[in-house]
Amino acid sequence: MEHAGTRVQQFIGDPVSDAPPVDRAKLEAIFSDIQSDMRFDHELNGCLNCGICTATCPSAHYYDYSPREIVQLLWTENLEGIYDAMQEKIWACAQCYTCAARCPFGNSPGGLVMVMREVAIKHGMESAKNVLRPFSRVMLKLISTGNQLAPDMINKEGFPDWGPNISKVDAPLATLRKAIPMPTLHTTKTAWEVNLKTSVELYTIWEETGVLGSLKTIDKNLHDVIADIMEEKRDELEEWLEEQAEE
Ligand code: SF4
Ligand code: SF4
Repeated sequence: MEHAGTRVQQFIGDPVSDAPPVDRAKLEAIFSDIQSDMRFDHELNGCLNCGICTATCPSAHYYDYSPREIVQLLWTENLEGIYDAMQEKIWACAQCYTCAARCPFGNSPGGLVMVMREVAIKHGMESAKNVLRPFSRVMLKLISTGNQLAPDMINKEGFPDWGPNISKVDAPLATLRKAIPMPTLHTTKTAWEVNLKTSVELYTIWEETGVLGSLKTIDKNLHDVIADIMEEKRDELEEWLEEQAEE
């Protein structure tokens, strides 16, 4: 009997809406990037479809999200499903790794989600841009100073979603920080003071590990601001080193 043909879906897209189909080459490139990540084979060893991961997943309780579904999409190489999950669902994972501790196959759904997120950023997917946009202030602080949150960022304007709870941190922070024995904590502009050499070394790490390249893909303005700050810091360090050599 003649074989009916491949089961691999050729049409990728919504058959009802007018949305243009996603180019198959693009789907393959995205999956190839996920699959070629060195963590992929370590974190996906098969799947019983048992659902233990989803039963223990905190995010699955609150969102339309299931680590079992993510693993099944990857295991069955469902390119369109993988792309769809990367539009929204993968951003619901809390990266707690409860799933990895429970899976009888030794899979790490949370680890696979991490790989998919990195690939979403690499491909400049809209979902990655939307998810990371509210964190641009934190990213600026983190990359340019090595600190994440600074005390003076914790205010009503910065965290309107905290509601009345924000008043609980409405305290004389500058005075309180001065009372801490470590001098590097006597500031409210950063969580702690980072010296110039350390800042420049951190910048080199962000650069060499490709973090800045990824940032450029998803938020070019923020990347350019950080690049300017770091250029200034590098000049400052160079000047300081020259001064030291002259003394
Ligand atoms: S617990 Fe493991 S085997 Fe079971 S559905 Fe989740 S990933 Fe698959
Ligand atoms: S790492 Fe993600 S997928 Fe795994 S249990 Fe935690 S929230 Fe769920």
